[in-house]
Order: sequence, then structure tokens, then C-alpha cells
Amino acid sequence: LLLEPVQDSESVDIFAALGRVTSQDVISPINVPPHDNSAMDGYAFDGTALNKMQALSLKVVGTALAGKAWQGQVHEGECVKIMTGAIMPQGLNTVVPQELCKMTAEDAIEIPAGLLQVGDNRRLCGEDIMQGKAALSKGGLITPAAAGLLASLGVPTVSVVRRLRVAYFSTGDEILSLGESPREGAVYDSNRYTVAGLVQALGCELIDMGVVRDEPAALAQAFVDAAVKADAIITSGGVSVGEADYTKAMMKKLGDVAFWKIAMRPGRPMAVGRINQGKQSAILFGLPGNPVAVMVTFLAFVKPALLQMMGCTELPQPLARARTREVLRKKPGRTEYQRGIVTRNKEGELEVITTGNQGSGVLSSMVQANALIVLQHTQSTAQIGDWVDVLML
Ligand code: AMP
Ligand code: MG
Repeated sequence: LLLEPVQDSESVDIFAALGRVTSQDVISPINVPPHDNSAMDGYAFDGTALNKMQALSLKVVGTALAGKAWQGQVHEGECVKIMTGAIMPQGLNTVVPQELCKMTAEDAIEIPAGLLQVGDNRRLCGEDIMQGKAALSKGGLITPAAAGLLASLGVPTVSVVRRLRVAYFSTGDEILSLGESPREGAVYDSNRYTVAGLVQALGCELIDMGVVRDEPAALAQAFVDAAVKADAIITSGGVSVGEADYTKAMMKKLGDVAFWKIAMRPGRPMAVGRINQGKQSAILFGLPGNPVAVMVTFLAFVKPALLQMMGCTELPQPLARARTREVLRKKPGRTEYQRGIVTRNKEGELEVITTGNQGSGVLSSMVQANALIVLQHTQSTAQIGDWVDVLML
């Protein structure tokens, strides 16, 4: 199996759990809400007394506050003033919102006919979550909503999958680290920063291994180190057929190549396989060097693979559809990703234009883009007004 999900789990505080993946179902120890309660400020009464044709007059005999229940007895023809979140007094099942009823005396209200049904504006015990039921299921991402839900159960910690360890290094003799002086033919290492951001945004632990020269011995050492420390290794550069492209050769020597070259653009030379070192082994994503190709292959391939390794069972973000406002030249037989800017037109439809120069070294276009236009494998040139798939960034 190429993508083995991490098995270890740990218990973390809810505050620290954001972006992590649950390692088991979270069973609720309580009902949420714990009692029937009012959804509105108004008056609680017995709704079975409602009559479609006739207004209902009631005497107000007390007040129920949130956190301070009304303990008294309520008889026929009586109601209790109630605040949002207050426990429903015994025997009462319906709330008339304050603004829907008339005060007819200091302690009497009238509810107009035909406005309400039995049970209106009452929240039922356990209607959000039932005691003993799974509030979150295994493999779910802990979002802000899920963190709040956990807190609503009164549970301070949650069991999550261990963070995935992802090692990254850039390769290339021409790659300068920040702080180094410029020299002819050299470029600063941008991939290290985009990949670090992408990996960390997924909630993985980044093992930053800097830049490695295009030298077989140095590369072999880096791969072996990474395979020991990490679950996954990501590299950039050195996977095309240039003379100094060693990554694939290393994979052959130190592990297995699963596949190399894929029918996508940019990103064609991506290589995927494993590096083995004794009992340790890590999956390797050898991404091309071009900065846009790095980001596109990460989003299209590496991200779903890492999520699977993180034990995450959530469905990927769906593609949207937008009308293209320009001709998008495309050859069938590969999937093409163009950088796009999606807006909504007056008719409420999504429209997309490209960011212009689609060179795979033009990283500024990735900054401008709010979407990737995905031109699918069998598709050919898209004409103005055609619908195309877009992956919102
Ligand atoms: P390669 O895949 O090694 O042939 O590199 C393709 C192109 O991407 C070359 O122009 C490299 O200079 C450039 N490149 C490779 N790695 C990086 C990097 N880490 N940061 C910025 N550009 C890079
Ligand atoms: Mg290179």
C-alpha cells in the first residue's frame, strides 16, 4: 500500500485540536441541550389549549430565567414568562414569542388565533446531540464548529491521529537560500516557503531540510535522513530528464519508483515512490522544480494523499463551474491547470479569466489567482462562454 494511514493517536486539549483528525468516534456523555428549553423570550404554556379559531387568554404566574428554572405548578389557563435558554416548566410544551402576544393586564396575555402550533419555539432535550450517540465520527477534521461541538459536550480533550511528519528539501545547484548573496544563474529558493505553508496549513509537522546540491552522495544522505525522520518526503526539482536530475535515480537505488511522469500540466515530471532505510520507510513525492508546478502538483496530488495518510475521511472540496471569458487553448490527453480569477457576474453566475502568462515559473500569477481552472483530461480548447471546472483556492 502506497498510502498507509498513521495508526498512532494522542489526546489533546480542544484548543490545540484545530485542524487535527479524530482517531475514533466521539461519543456524547450527555444530551445537548440537557433539558427542554425555550428558543425565544416569551411565555411558556400548554399548547394543547390552542384553538385555531379563537384567541387564547392566559394568566402569567411566574418567570423562568436561563440558569434559574421556574419550580412552581402551572394550572390550566396559566403561563410562565420565559427567557431564551430557560428550562421549560413542568407540563408546558410551547412558547409564544413576546412580540406575538398582547398584554391585556399586568399579569395577563392574549395569544391571537392561528399563529402557533403545539411545540413551537421549544428546543427538545438532546435535539442537537443525543447522549450515547457519536457527536463526531472517526476521520473527521476538527474545524472551529467541531471544536465548539466538543466543548458543548463538556469534554475538554479529544483523541486525534498523531501529526504526520513531512520532510521537505529543495534540490538544485542554482538554488540560493535566503541570506546568500545573489550570483549569476542562481535563483532564490521559493519552493521551500510555499511547500512549508501548504504542509503546515494541512496540520502536518514540517521537517525543513533546506537545500541539497545536485550531487548523488548529498542527495542519498538527505533521502536516508528524511526516510528515518518522516512519514512523507517532498522534494522539488531534479525529476525531469536534465543531466543533473537525480531524484528518480535515487528512488530506484534507495526504494521503489511507483510512477513517474503524469499526464498533467504543469507538473508532468512528478515522481512518486518510496525510500526505505532499514525498517523505516517514507513515501516520496518528487515534485518538479518550477514554482507553479510545485503548488499545482501539491494541491492536485500531494494534499489528497497526505490527508489519506492523516486518516482523514472527509470528502475533498468539490469543484465549481464557471463560464470562461477567454479562449482556453488545451490539448486532449492531459489535465491542465491554469491560474484563474473567478468573479460573479450580474446574472449571479461564476465567470473566470486567467491571470495572463501561464508560465510554470511565474509565481506571481499564483498570488493573483483565487482559483485553478481545471481543464479535464479529454477536454479540448474551451471557447468564450463555455463552462469549465474551477478549484477555488
Ligand atoms: P528542475 O525541475 O530542477 O529542472 O527545475 C525547473 C525550474 O525550476 C528551474 O528553472 C529551477 O531553477 C527552478 N527551481 C527549482 N527549484 C526551485 C526552488 N526551490 N525555488 C525556485 N525555483 C526553483
Ligand atoms: Mg534542478
